[in-house]
Order: sequence, then C-alpha cells, then structure tokens
Amino acid sequence: MPELLLRNARTLVTMDDAGTELSDADILIRDGVIVALGQGLATQGDTLDCAGCVVTPGLVNTHHHLYQTLTRAVPGAQDAALFGWLTTLYPIWARFTPDHMRVSALTGLAELALSGCTTSSDHLYLYPNGSRLDDTIEAAGMIGLRLHATRGAMSIGQSAGGLPPDSLVEDEAAILNDCLRVIDAFHDTTPGAMIRIGVAPCSPFSVSRELMRDAAILARDKGVMLHTHLAENDEDIAYSLAKFGCRPGDYAESLGWTGPDVWHAHCVKLDAAEIDLFARTRTGVAHCPCSNCRLASGIAPVRAMRDAGVPVGLGVDGSASNDAGNLVAEARMAMLLQRVASGPGAMSPREALRIATRGGAEVLGRGDHLGQIAPGYRADLAIWDVSGVEAAGSWDPASLLLAGPTRVRDLLVEGRRVVAEGQVVTLDLPAVLADQRRLAEALARNE
Ligand SMILES: [Zn+2]
Repeated sequence: MPELLLRNARTLVTMDDAGTELSDADILIRDGVIVALGQGLATQGDTLDCAGCVVTPGLVNTHHHLYQTLTRAVPGAQDAALFGWLTTLYPIWARFTPDHMRVSALTGLAELALSGCTTSSDHLYLYPNGSRLDDTIEAAGMIGLRLHATRGAMSIGQSAGGLPPDSLVEDEAAILNDCLRVIDAFHDTTPGAMIRIGVAPCSPFSVSRELMRDAAILARDKGVMLHTHLAENDEDIAYSLAKFGCRPGDYAESLGWTGPDVWHAHCVKLDAAEIDLFARTRTGVAHCPCSNCRLASGIAPVRAMRDAGVPVGLGVDGSASNDAGNLVAEARMAMLLQRVASGPGAMSPREALRIATRGGAEVLGRGDHLGQIAPGYRADLAIWDVSGVEAAGSWDPASLLLAGPTRVRDLLVEGRRVVAEGQVVTLDLPAVLADQRRLAEALARNE
C-alpha cells in the first residue's frame, strides 16, 4: 500500500501514557501502520489535509448486538425493563434470516463508522432460520471495520424455565461445535487482524452452568477471548442469588470467567468485592451507559472500577435498547452519568474519550496495536472537523465530548478511508438503508 500523509491536524490526541496532544501535526502512514508523527513530514504518496480538525485514535466499541438494528423503538418494548423487554422482542427476532442479519449489521456498522468507531465487537446469541455468525462477519468485511465477532448462545428455553422461546435456543454440544468452526474459519491472531472471534454464551440466565464452564475451557484451549452479560440490573442479581446461591462475580469466578481474556457487558451492579476481583484478575468491563439508562438498570460504578484498576471500555449495546449506535455520543453519556453519580469532577471529557479509544482496545486485548496514535500502531484514526457549527466557540476543541461534533469528517481503518467528507465510501449506504427499511416494515407487519 502506498503512503498516506495526514497533514496539519489542528490537534492530534495521541492517548499515550502522558496524554500528549500535538498541535499543527502530521501523521505518516505506511502499509496501514503509523510510522511517524510530527511537523513538516513529507511523502511521495497521497496526502489528506486535516487543517481545522482534531484527530483521535479510532473509537472501539466493546459491546453490541448488530442484528438488533432492525428492531429499534419497537412500541411494546419502549418502556419495559430488561426481562420484559426481552420477552417482547424474542418472537420478532425468531423470524430473522441470514438476510436480516447481514443488512442489520451493515446498517449498525455504518452508524458506528460515522461516529468514529474503527473496531467493534458483536455479540450474536441467536441463530434463527439458518443464520450464522458468518453473516455478520461478511458485513464487517464489506464496510471495512475491524470486528471482534463473538459466538453467543442460549440453551435454556421456556420449557426449561428460561426466558427465550424454545425455537431460539440451541443444543449445547452444537453450540460448542459451532464455536470451534468459526474460530478455525475466521480467528486471526496477527497484529493487524480485521476479524477475531470470541466465545460468548448470552448470560448466566440463558445457558447452563456446564456450558459456561465448557465455553471457558474451549476458549482457553483455542486462545480466544470470553464475553457475556453480567450483573446488569437488580433482577439479574436477584436471579443469581436465588438460582446459584451467590452473586454474579462469584458465579463467574467459579466457572473460569475472570481474567485478562474475559470481558463482561454492563456490570452495573458490581459490589466492592466484585470490583476488587475484576481489578485483581484484570477482567474487563464493557460499560453501556445509554442502554443502562434506557432500561433503567442503574449507573455502573465506573469511577470506582477505574480507580481500582479494572479495564473499562465502552459499548453502545444493541440498537433495541439504546436505540442509537453513536459511539462518541455514548462516550459523552459515560462522562455525564459519572458526574450525576459522583459530582462534576468524577470524569473529564478527556478521560471518557480515553475509555472510548485506548480503554476499549485494552479490553479487547488489542492495546499493543490499537487505541493510540504512535509509531507502530495500526492507522485506525477518527478525523473530527471542529470548524463547523457544533464546535463553534469552543475554547478547547480537543474536549470533543463537551461540544462535538458527533460525526466524523473522515475515518481510517488500517490506513484505508471508510468515511470521507462525512459519507461512508465503502458501501452503497442508500441501498443498504432501502433494504433495512423493507425488512423492518415487513417485520412490523408481522410478515
Ligand atoms: Zn447486550
């Protein structure tokens, strides 16, 4: 790949250990990797003028259900808490096909890209009508974002006392076999990997104790990461105490679900002992503030987690419970919620942006190559035009989460432009949105 030189960025937010920010700076990229930072750099290759722009590392989304982009603002689920919300949506999701999975993922990934996200995880835990994880992976390849696709699963249906209809649950041996299949087919361990696979039973209340344990053994054997939902709200804690006789942290620990190769979504209700456990074991958290507000789950103790040393990243969560998928807006909400909980000094805009970039990269095990702007790191960059109306009058445009903007001008993944001049350039997005509208309307008509 020829060189690309980003020239004359107003502010370059490196996210290095010292929090260095460079003014009027250039970034030289070669073969998808950052090779130099500084002023007055030269190239024989292409140049991209970044005057009037703040450049940050690409944002990293650590929790999502891309298939849910087709079920935003579903009337019966707009005002329910977690368990009621799930039981409203399960019958709709049971009608999905591979086409729904692909189109929904393309839409969700395009939305993420426009909001500065270069790497997303996805948690797909239902596979109706021949759907496969491959459908989502194909979508990520089409748009050109990095994807950590996790092979989710549910095995306890209504007839066994669970929440999902029996048609959405799978046999546990088949689940483990398909985990092996997708790991062998897609998992890439190289530093520039565009696809990595994780193993991700949906939650402790939708699979058996044995599957949780076996999934952890399988993931460690294959060298992939583990992901699930944990301690999301009060109902979740009550279920754990009643069913397992312990809190979620103890349950996770007893089944091998702690360690630097594990990250849990939500963790709104972690207590002090669980925060200590996560910090000691370097177990990661995907904080999803908008979803937690939307479902009235509570405010996750992110300040306490960060102070204790728990790795924390951000997630937009599925579009059925947000219902947006704008990652930079999610970072702003993370900052605001910690202030509501703990006062105006509880989280600065720069710390929230650090969680959204470097924090997410570290949670996903990519901290050596993603999440910073430094020589040797992959060229995943978000370019924010701060000369427009949103940031007009800002004395400190690098405090991006205070004044905006909330859409990128350009987005580079592995040195390639996915967004240029505010438009996704790797896809025919209007055609994707037409497909999305057709499928959503048919679902709403119960067809
Ligand atoms: Zn979720």
